[in-house]
Amino acid sequence: MLTRTTTTTTSDHPWDEIFQAVTTAIGRSFRAGIGVLLQETPHRDPFRVLISTIISLRTRDEVTIAASRRLFAHADTPATVLELTRDLLEECLYPAGFYRTKAESITKICRILLEQYAGEVPSTMEELLALPGVGRKTANLVLSAGFGVPAICVDIHVHRISNRCGWVATRAPEQTESALREILPMNYWIPINEWLVGFGQQVCTAGSPRCSTCPLSQRCPRIGVSRWR
Ligand code: SF4
Repeated sequence: MLTRTTTTTTSDHPWDEIFQAVTTAIGRSFRAGIGVLLQETPHRDPFRVLISTIISLRTRDEVTIAASRRLFAHADTPATVLELTRDLLEECLYPAGFYRTKAESITKICRILLEQYAGEVPSTMEELLALPGVGRKTANLVLSAGFGVPAICVDIHVHRISNRCGWVATRAPEQTESALREILPMNYWIPINEWLVGFGQQVCTAGSPRCSTCPLSQRCPRIGVSRWR
């Protein structure tokens, strides 16, 4: 049975110090996760954010960026995407993981946006989750990067690091999102994704984290970490 047990409160963690250390460790110009989307869509285009996020699932950032640019060079609205042949759409997405499935989802999404939302992307969690291929991670990215709504996008890095550091005690990213909402100041809801994705790629890596040089090592209980460098 999945359970969520959070005993911490906002004041239990010096968030300013923690994220100062994290951003220093990864480098302030480093871009990952939501930061890539914000960089690619500086004027907040929910449609581009939605489509790029679909492309990004199980795909490296650099592949996502290249595929998104190829696609948006041909079409950047639901109507124009539907004018593309399936071959061309798949060609734009390749070599993103599951590019054929993603092409199918993108086509279905564009059709729904045109038929039900006058070609616009809906701005509520419920409506976004009803779109094909859209889960909470994607919906939160669209809300935060596309609409500027405070939302916590929890991917595998955010989930892993939050648990290792003892900020939350959860088993699934959805539970981590709920738990973080209770303890994390709202000004960190959007940037925590980019920072912890970068930190998870460079320092607190999945297999063997670099604890010996980690700036959080003095305050991190390393929960669930059996070996480290
Ligand atoms: S001390 Fe280790 S487990 Fe804790 S945040 Fe740093 S790298 Fe991750």
